[in-house]
Amino acid sequence: MAFIKTQVIPAHKSGAIDRAVEHLIAGQLVAIPTETVYGLAADALNPDAVQNIFEAKGRPANNPLICHVSSIQMAKRYVAVTEIAEKLMHEFWPGPLTFVLPKQKTCAIPEIVGAGLPTLAVRCPANKTARTVIDQLDHPIAAPSANVSGKLSPTSAQDVLDGLVGKISLVIDGGLTSVGIESTIIGISNNDIILLRPGTITVDDISRVTGSAVKDRDNDTITAPGQLKSHYAPNAAVRLNAQTCGPDEILIGFGRIAGDITLSKHGDLHEAARKLFSTLRTADEYGKASIAVAPIPAKGVGIAINDRLARAAAPRPTGTKAHK
Ligand code: AMP
Ligand code: MG
Repeated sequence: MAFIKTQVIPAHKSGAIDRAVEHLIAGQLVAIPTETVYGLAADALNPDAVQNIFEAKGRPANNPLICHVSSIQMAKRYVAVTEIAEKLMHEFWPGPLTFVLPKQKTCAIPEIVGAGLPTLAVRCPANKTARTVIDQLDHPIAAPSANVSGKLSPTSAQDVLDGLVGKISLVIDGGLTSVGIESTIIGISNNDIILLRPGTITVDDISRVTGSAVKDRDNDTITAPGQLKSHYAPNAAVRLNAQTCGPDEILIGFGRIAGDITLSKHGDLHEAARKLFSTLRTADEYGKASIAVAPIPAKGVGIAINDRLARAAAPRPTGTKAHK
């Protein structure tokens, strides 16, 4: 890809949103803050712009993108919103819950966005800047996380620049993201709800609204393509469920295990989710062979944190081994 000058504009600066929309209309990529992580946005109706997302990130073409909408009405233009989906949207939108739903026959979103699948993933972000950009554009943006594929997700504008400077034209700096990990993804098939990716909205939160249990994706036909085992990888190797720090390691603590740095001194899982990626980045800067991570309880939001950590610790594809 040719080198592109990357401009950074604070979200609160007047004209910031107009500039983002202009760039999107011109087919350029814009990193925007969402409450989960920073998204790398393209106009979802422009297949060339969407193609550039895959190129800038080095993302495999079989990994579909999430379309971000500014309302339930906007989602309905492109996907079939079932009764149960609408109930959940009313409860959790705007917010970090993504729905994989069948595309409408008339859906104008190009195939490349959904990697050729008959379904499309949609989410309405809680972040005001993101929602206003989509509102002004008046149709969805396709936006995966604004990082190089397989690396740690970005929770600040600086994180975005570290991975994508020279590859994208604009970053809207909205400060640190408040949720810190990617959205929960559910698929809805008939009346079954299947968890495709855990997040801070938990299966219990969803069941409370629907009155029925959320199924595990392994038991069903809806698959989540592109969910590679190794993902969210720092440079160092990652060792999980560590009680103590080994030689040439840095220990990330949680609760009573203090560590060199901690995800949450008080054992607060929401705080740990918010700090997960920035703590892994900081730990990586120590330049040790391995990052050891204290056990995180596998309940509530801890399930999503453990999902990300398991991918960070998974064997890496050849050529991307830990640096020591
Ligand atoms: P990311 O944009 O990196 O947060 O990842 C989005 C994830 O959403 C992908 O890895 C897919 O697993 C999932 N996804 C997106 N669209 C679909 C779809 N149509 N069907 C199933 N999973 C999807
Ligand atoms: Mg991602």
